[in-house]
Amino acid sequence: MTNQAIEDLKTYVGGLQDLGHVMGLLSWDMETQMPPAAADSRGKQMGILSELHHQRATADTLKHLLETAEATGSNAPVDKALLREVRRHYDHATKLPQAFVSELTEVTAKAHHVWVEARQKQDFSLFEPLLTKIVAMNRQQADYLGWEGSPLNALMDLFEPGLTVDEVDRLFNQLRAPLVQLVQAIGNSPHHATWPFDNERFAEAQQKELTVKVLETMGFDFKRGRLDKAPHPFCTNFSINDVRLTSRYHEEDPFSALLTAMHEGGHGLVEQQADMALERTPLPGATLGIHESQSRLYENILGRSLAFWTYLTPAIKAMYPECAAMQRLEAQDIFRLVNRVKPSFIRVESDEVTYNLHIMLRYELEKALIENQLQVADLPAAWNEKMQAYLGITPPNDSQGVLQDVHWSGGMIGYFPTYTLGNLYSAQFWHTVNQDNPTLNSDIEQGKLAVLTQWLRDKIHRHGQVDLPAGIVQRVTGQALNAHYFLDYLWDKYTPLYQLSETPSYKTTVS
Ligand code: ZN
Repeated sequence: MTNQAIEDLKTYVGGLQDLGHVMGLLSWDMETQMPPAAADSRGKQMGILSELHHQRATADTLKHLLETAEATGSNAPVDKALLREVRRHYDHATKLPQAFVSELTEVTAKAHHVWVEARQKQDFSLFEPLLTKIVAMNRQQADYLGWEGSPLNALMDLFEPGLTVDEVDRLFNQLRAPLVQLVQAIGNSPHHATWPFDNERFAEAQQKELTVKVLETMGFDFKRGRLDKAPHPFCTNFSINDVRLTSRYHEEDPFSALLTAMHEGGHGLVEQQADMALERTPLPGATLGIHESQSRLYENILGRSLAFWTYLTPAIKAMYPECAAMQRLEAQDIFRLVNRVKPSFIRVESDEVTYNLHIMLRYELEKALIENQLQVADLPAAWNEKMQAYLGITPPNDSQGVLQDVHWSGGMIGYFPTYTLGNLYSAQFWHTVNQDNPTLNSDIEQGKLAVLTQWLRDKIHRHGQVDLPAGIVQRVTGQALNAHYFLDYLWDKYTPLYQLSETPSYKTTVS
């Protein structure tokens, strides 16, 4: 029996999805193909499309279709998820007054330019007035959306539905001390790998050839996707059958483009492996946190594992027969090279151990700002203090400190925790996939990466966003999110790599 109210809603929402995907295609083109002189006309084209999209997303027709479908109801999980997601998007699009949205667009457009200048001049005071305004407007936005506990809950919910400060605090309190301890222990270790390449160049063509081979082995379907070049790598899609990856190539480093593409490929598989029944609904794909768990699983847990390099080392050596330094490397050497850990000022250049401390610092400062515990004027000092406490280094200037990320200038507060959540989800999923597949390690050594990809498809990707993140973790792993899986993963990997002798604090103290 078809449910006519649900079908009518699906038809309308399908058109809205199509419009969003056309805009996505124009953005993809802007990043990868468009000649620079077309920027102005493209801006106008995007402007009119986003106006149409907003009209359609806030129209009375949608309100009516949604209310009718809600009143009719459905017991099918996909229908329930559809109603939930359409309601969420509709509420977010209509709860903010139009004047507020316009002002925020204006403030953030200006803030972006000022942030670029402040970062260039290493002068936070230039950015301070606009950031103060952005924080105030975010607090206002939380009030419009409605919140309990902390205004940050309303903002985080925009990025990871259902996420609360109580939950983030619980997880970050588990992580903080053992991560700081691990960073210090690695810092004290004399067993750091040295970079073996000096003036060697690794041509883009060869790097791309190897990247495509690995993506195919992972199960990425090039009949339903592409790989192109972009200065800031990303993944986007306009259909379950049209998924676009981008990567960038550094000719002095033979590993970074590959790992970047594996990251984006992980995002791509989430989209490509969704059930076709979800096409033209908001349900394929995943929340930011779950999405990031898949990209990091492929990039870090798989791509930086000894098993993976046992498989790939012969192929990468064959790719560069002239390079003597490459010919000397064994799997174990590359494993050490791609897992170098060193505290750095810049988040996007950091490794998988220090990365989460960068995130924690940002989250704690955002929470203090939004809850009025910290003034924007005091932010640089607070930033530097936490850098010293967590990573043992103090930025020499604000450009390498508080001014480094674009997010705040764009008005985004509450986004950062999704990166660390991704790491936590990925380690817990990894634990479960290994329990279900006891020979996974040797499969990977033989290049059978599809074993992992099929498991992820069946357990996670197929279902898209039918469940919320907490429900996915519970369904797939049989328990709630627990930071100890990630801590175990890190300590088990880095203890032999750096020949550490310490016992992690979380294993000796009761928590
Ligand atoms: Zn990502």
